[in-house]
Order: sequence, then C-alpha cells, then structure tokens
Amino acid sequence: MKIIMLGAPGAGKGTQAKRIAAKYNVPHISTGDIFRANIKNNTELGQKAKAFMDKGELVPDSLVLDLIMDRFTEDDCKNGYVLDGFPRTIPQAEALSDALKANGEKVDFAINIDVPDENIINRMGGRRACVGCGATYHIQFNAPKVEGVCDACGEKLILRDDDKPETVKNRLNVYHTQTQPLIDFYEKAGVLVNIDGTQDMDKVFADIVKVLG
Ligand code: ADP
Ligand code: AMP
Repeated sequence: MKIIMLGAPGAGKGTQAKRIAAKYNVPHISTGDIFRANIKNNTELGQKAKAFMDKGELVPDSLVLDLIMDRFTEDDCKNGYVLDGFPRTIPQAEALSDALKANGEKVDFAINIDVPDENIINRMGGRRACVGCGATYHIQFNAPKVEGVCDACGEKLILRDDDKPETVKNRLNVYHTQTQPLIDFYEKAGVLVNIDGTQDMDKVFADIVKVLG
C-alpha cells in the first residue's frame, strides 16, 4: 500500500502517518525527519537543507528527489510506505508518478488532512519535538507525562525553530502556493481522500481507517 499524506504544516500528517505505519505495517517516511537527522549529524545535505528550512522555504526539488528515490530502494519499502511531507510540489509529484509508473505501480491513497489556517498557528506553537527520537507531542492536545521530557526515550523536548510564529506564517504561504495544488493533482488521479483534521486525533485516525480498510 502506497500512501501520501497531504495537508498544511501542522495539520497532523506525522501524527497520523505514525499510526498508519503501525497498523498497516509499512514504513513511515518523513522527508522533514530525514533532513533534521542530516542537520543533527552535520552532513553536507543537512547544511544545504538547513538554510531553506530555517526560513520556512522548501528545500530544492533536486535535493529532495535524490534523497527520496534512494530511500525507496531500501528493503522495507517493498510492501509500500506512508509518505509524510513528500511530495510537496507538482514536479515532486510528477517525479514520484514517473518512478512508480516505470514499475507498473501507482499511489493508492492521497490522504488530505484538512485544517484551516487559524487552527494551524495554535497547533504549531504547542508542538514539541524530541531531540532524541523525533517523537511529537502537543502541550495541550497530546502532552508528555513529564513536561519537557519524551515519554518514549527520556530525551529533551523542544519547540522546532521553524515552528516559531514568524516562520509558520511563511510556511503556510509556501504551502498554499506550492503544495496545495497537489490536492487537485491527486483528485484528477482518482486517489484523493479528504479527512476533517479538526477532529481529535483518534477520530481523525478512525476516519482514515474507514477508507484504507
Ligand atoms: P504535521 O506532520 O502535519 O506537520 P503533526 O502531526 O506534527 O503535523 O501535528 C502538529 C501538532 O498538532 C503536534 O503538536 C500534534 O501533537 C498536534 N496534533 C496533531 N493532530 C491533532 C489533532 N487532531 N488535534 C489536535 N492536535 C493535533
Ligand atoms: P516537515 O517536517 O514535513 O514540516 O518539513 C520541515 C521542512 O523540511 C519544510 O518546511 C521544508 O523546508 C523541508 N522539507 C521537508 N520535505 C520537503 C519536500 N518534500 N520538499 C521540499 N522541502 C521539504
């Protein structure tokens, strides 16, 4: 099963992708997580990506495509995957379609988690990410057991630099201009699923499972 998560930054893609990955036994592939791991390890790719990420801009397609095509060759992708944060532009979506088509495959579901901009600002300001394992929390909607400490690995929780209000506004603009057109792209491909992302996390997941089966 090949699944794409669509939606604004903070809509809940990562939260739901983790649950989908666990239930349907496919890897959760987040390009944002891969970039953050590269930044942490100070790789050349990480250094290049950081300059764009800090401003809330997209990393250039060429860098993203090399990375993701390489990731698809790993063994765990043979039964599919759930993609979180990729594709984010029409050229990325076309590159993915072309790569799949070459093997007689296609995207099965593009799950669009719909959340209005006004809710996004609050979601992002309250998001806390673990510096160790990347787990995500929310100070109000999904709080860790001990404030500032990851339930899963005990490492510190931080507010991501790009979750600060000024950067969030830019990320939303970038989303509307460059990523939102993918909703149409996947609707035309006949694989779009719209989900109301303003509901609580369990209800959002239940709606997704109804569609995936
Ligand atoms: P994305 O991957 O789309 O950027 P996340 O999954 O990281 O978004 O979610 C953004 C923030 O909102 C996180 O702090 C997360 O815990 C919280 N969140 C996710 N889904 C919901 C929901 N349905 N209701 C309230 N908060 C949510
Ligand atoms: P995310 O963790 O999905 O919110 O992504 C964080 C940041 O990483 C984005 O704001 C972009 O700068 C960058 N990024 C992640 N995925 C992509 C992608 N597919 N294309 C371009 N930039 C990306």
